[in-house]
Amino acid sequence: MKKIKSIKLKDKYVNILKITGVILCIFLGIFIFFRKQINDLKKYGYSEKASYNILFSFKKDYILSKGENKTLNAAFESKDYNENNLDRYAKINYVKQDNLIKNINKLIKIGYSNDDIDLILTHGDATAVERFIKRDKVKYLDEFFSIDYAKLDNYDRYVAYSDETGENDDYVVLYVNLNLDEDAYTDSFKVKNFSYDMLINKHRYLDKKFKPKNLVKIDTKYTNDNEFYANKVAVNAFIDMANAASKDGLDLVINSAYRSFDDQLEIENTYRNLYGDDYVTKYVAKAGYSEHQTGLAFDIGSKSSRIFSNSKEYKWVLDNAYKYGFIHRFPKKYENITQISNEPWHFRYVGKKIAKKIYEEDMTLEEYFVKFLDK
Ligand code: ZN
Repeated sequence: MKKIKSIKLKDKYVNILKITGVILCIFLGIFIFFRKQINDLKKYGYSEKASYNILFSFKKDYILSKGENKTLNAAFESKDYNENNLDRYAKINYVKQDNLIKNINKLIKIGYSNDDIDLILTHGDATAVERFIKRDKVKYLDEFFSIDYAKLDNYDRYVAYSDETGENDDYVVLYVNLNLDEDAYTDSFKVKNFSYDMLINKHRYLDKKFKPKNLVKIDTKYTNDNEFYANKVAVNAFIDMANAASKDGLDLVINSAYRSFDDQLEIENTYRNLYGDDYVTKYVAKAGYSEHQTGLAFDIGSKSSRIFSNSKEYKWVLDNAYKYGFIHRFPKKYENITQISNEPWHFRYVGKKIAKKIYEEDMTLEEYFVKFLDK
């Protein structure tokens, strides 16, 4: 009896073990199948989270037919995923941006096309996009935003300036990005850091305390006998240039270089007392707004000629300055952009690479800034 009972008990355990085994095998099978599905999706660059959500919304085949697509990945990662917009997500270019899917949903709802949405998303950060979304559908998106440095936040100003002047779209975007549609010296931007490509003008200023890096005294051999200071790299570049000019029988000297905030204030006040406010506004940079405070600007002259713009030296410098890293900063034909009347003598050190580009493409430092630095 005892023996039989123990055999029966053993059978019972065996059966339980068998059933458990089968159940485990089924779960393991499901798990392996599930992992394989996830891995199929991961091969196309979908994240674990996105892959999981794709499987549970039964969109695996759809996704695999689209292949790698970062916007779809973001959509399936997002709590804002909306199945009705699935085909749209697939066609909109991905940008790394907070609330991307939420914003895309809103833009679709407003009635923008996929191309419009691509333009909107690539011309501002998430906050700019959120601001833009608050308005009704706008016109002329393509006109302005096909220009890659156009800014979403400036849209109204582009339209206004374009209506006002009828200028072409490239010019409108350049002009507005430089804040030239606003009065000089108002709402100016404070430039904090020294760099060889820094832009200072009537809309971008330096603090009273700003001092350039590596100010050095310039050997008076290279000046009009006065004592000047400027950035060391710029000074060395000027010396190279002056030596090269001298080999061509020409003499270049520095008539002005670094000027502190207070130096500029003194100049401003002197001219104001002599000629009045209008003159100062037109011809003299206000303290903080002078490029001379950067230590990178030189007023260049020649001992052998009284009027620099008529000299052989001036012609030589126009043709050669870029080789030493200098640009002619305020040419007559770009007065509308620089907002400074033609100054034949004023040259600015920006480094050889930028100087070459500005020279070859015949542009201003303002235009270079908008196109390559202010993105
Ligand atoms: Zn100057």
